[in-house]
Amino acid sequence: QLGLGAWAYDRGEFVPAQAPRLPLSTQGLHYGTGVFEGIRAYRSDGGHQLFRAHEHYARMLRACRMLRITGIPATTPELIDITVELLRRNAHDGDVYVRPLAHKLSLLPDTPPGVSLAGVSDALSITTFGYPTAGGVKEVRCALSAWRRPPRDALPVQAKITGGYVTSALACDEARAAGYDDAILLDRSGNVAEATTANVFAVRDGGLVTPPDAGDLLAGITRDTVITLCREAGMTVRENPLSPADLYTADEVFLTSTAKEVAAVVALSGRDIGSGTAGPVAARVAALYRTATTAPDAQDAHDAQDRAGG
Ligand code: PMP
Repeated sequence: QLGLGAWAYDRGEFVPAQAPRLPLSTQGLHYGTGVFEGIRAYRSDGGHQLFRAHEHYARMLRACRMLRITGIPATTPELIDITVELLRRNAHDGDVYVRPLAHKLSLLPDTPPGVSLAGVSDALSITTFGYPTAGGVKEVRCALSAWRRPPRDALPVQAKITGGYVTSALACDEARAAGYDDAILLDRSGNVAEATTANVFAVRDGGLVTPPDAGDLLAGITRDTVITLCREAGMTVRENPLSPADLYTADEVFLTSTAKEVAAVVALSGRDIGSGTAGPVAARVAALYRTATTAPDAQDAHDAQDRAGG
C-alpha cells in the first residue's frame, strides 16, 4: 500500500512512473535548486479528495518565483487538474501522498551545470504514493538535534526548497541512528524551530503554544489548520518562542504535518514528556483534524472541487 502509483506526470505528459530519465547535468540535482510539495489525497466514497491542494500549490508557485522556475503550469487550477487526472489513472485503493517536484534543468543540453538561475530550463514532475492514514494519534520519540535550522536570511525557510532539506536529512539520520524516530531542531538563538519535516506545538494548562511563523521555520499548512480548528473548538493558541526547557516541562508536545498529521512526542532526548504516552489534548487535536480531512463540508470551498474519480 506504500507503493509508487503506476503513472507519473513528467514534463507535460503522463508516463509510466518508472520511465522518466533526467539528464545527469540537471541543475536541481547538483545545487538543490528545486521546490517540492507534499499533498494528501484522502480516499472517500466518490474517489479521492485532495486536502487544501490550492494552498499547497500556491506555496509551491511562490517558491518557484524565488527560484525563477517559470516553465511549468503556472496556476493552481492547472496543477490541481493534472493531479486529479494522475489520481484517476493511478486508482490507489487507499489514502495517497502526492509529491509535486519543480526544479531547474539546464542552460543548454550537454553543458556543465552552473549555479546561476537565469536562462536555465525548468521541469515539473508529480508522483503519487499509497500512504495509509494511521488513525488515532501516533506516538514519536524525538531527539533534540545538534543541527540548527538555518536562519531565514540564509535560506528562504517558507519555501520547500529541495537543497534546504540537507539539514533535515542529517538531523533525522542522526536521530534514527541513536534510536529515535525524529529530531527537533533549534534556531540560532536556541529556541525551538521545528522538527525535520513538521511543526511543533506544546500544551500547557490545556492551551497550545507554537513558535511564531516569523521565526526560522516553515509555518506549515497543517499547523494553520490545527490553529484554526483548535480556536474554533474554544482552545487558546498562542504563537510564542519555546525553549527546550518549555518542551521538557510541557504537559504534552505534538507535531503537525501533511504526512504525519498529528503525532504526539512522548519522549525528548531520553526524557518522557508528560505521562510518556499520547495525552488527551493531542488525541483531541488529532480527532478534530481527522474530521476536517474526511468530512467534505468541513473543508474550505475550493477543496470541494478537488475530487478525483476512480
Ligand atoms: N516544516 C518543514 C521543514 C516541513 O518540511 C514540513 C512538511 N511540509 C512542515 C514543517 C509541515 O508543513 P505542512 O503542514 O504544510 O505539511
